[in-house]
Amino acid sequence: MHDVAIIGAGPGGVTAGIYAVRYGLKAIVLSKEPGGWMAKTPTIENWPGEIKPIEGFELASRFVEHMKAYGAEFAEEEVDNVERTDQGFRIHTTTDNVYHAKALIFATGSKKRMLNVPGEEPFSGKGVSYCVTCDGPLFRGRQVGVSGGGDSAAEAAIMLAEYAKEVKLFVRDNEMSAKHYLQEKLKSLPNVKLMTGAFVTRILGDQLMHSVELNDGSVHELQGLFVEIGLVPMTELAAQLGIELQNGLIQVGPDMASSVPGVFGAGDITTGSNELRQIVTAAGEGAIAANSAFKYLRAR
Ligand SMILES: Cc1cc2nc3c(=O)[nH]c(=O)nc-3n(C[C@H](O)[C@H](O)[C@H](O)COP(=O)(O)OP(=O)(O)OC[C@H]3O[C@@H](n4cnc5c(N)ncnc54)[C@H](O)[C@@H]3O)c2cc1C
Repeated sequence: MHDVAIIGAGPGGVTAGIYAVRYGLKAIVLSKEPGGWMAKTPTIENWPGEIKPIEGFELASRFVEHMKAYGAEFAEEEVDNVERTDQGFRIHTTTDNVYHAKALIFATGSKKRMLNVPGEEPFSGKGVSYCVTCDGPLFRGRQVGVSGGGDSAAEAAIMLAEYAKEVKLFVRDNEMSAKHYLQEKLKSLPNVKLMTGAFVTRILGDQLMHSVELNDGSVHELQGLFVEIGLVPMTELAAQLGIELQNGLIQVGPDMASSVPGVFGAGDITTGSNELRQIVTAAGEGAIAANSAFKYLRAR
């Protein structure tokens, strides 16, 4: 029996782990992979103390190292079910392991939004990708596309321009919403072609994808398509416990407590921090959630 189980090891979950052990709690962090989005982001900005952008994987590794050094247990596991028990909570993983904890912190973050067009699922991993850091280098010298008009889409196109022969950027609206400096950078790259008012309606291929069809019916030959159209919070497990959600996010108070006693939230999946979704806010919420779990357990 652990005092607290934390699900997710992004900045929210890792910081909750660090603070939980500082409060003397027996804590375990369960996560599909360590580091969350930090580990998959080429460069991280806005992390205090790092004036120059820091490599995401490096920052993620330091976070996880810190948590382990302080004594939080870590298991690389995907949680697929959570139930309430008389003692607290029973947590089941996809490897059929079962963990027990008196309190729970959800820090499962978010996943990439899908296009939901024909061909997306069959060609996912066969040309269609949601992670430019992971898959970008595989497209050296190839024709690729990026769907999206925000910062993530701009950053993906900039990174891909280093490898790919040509990058077509499909922006649904008539202009991009990405930050000004990113748009300026895109304009300076000769192998990036910006296409506004354009969106993918179908992905075509055989064994691998070979082209996309756009809303105007035109077909573009591409070996890869990177989908960067936003994020959706991963609140399925919280919903299993009947936790109150607001617009798909775990509704929390200033103490990061959810509507279910003993269950707290941290990071991108909560309504906290004025819904600013950054590493610094996820980490702050993780610290508060651990503090609240400690107070909850002490009161019990
Ligand atoms: C492309 C991109 C670039 C960004 N750049 C910056 C930046 O420069 N600066 C900045 O401050 N912020 C940046 N952000 C935002 C920042 O990364 C997020 O706000 C932050 O990572 C949220 O942390 P989190 O702990 O809530 O969740 P996440 O980082 O999403 O981590 C959640 C973790 O939970 C795990 N998980 C999910 N479901 C389960 C399950 N069922 N079982 C077990 N584990 C599970 C996941 O595998 C993951 O490891 C960026 C985000 C993106 C997408």
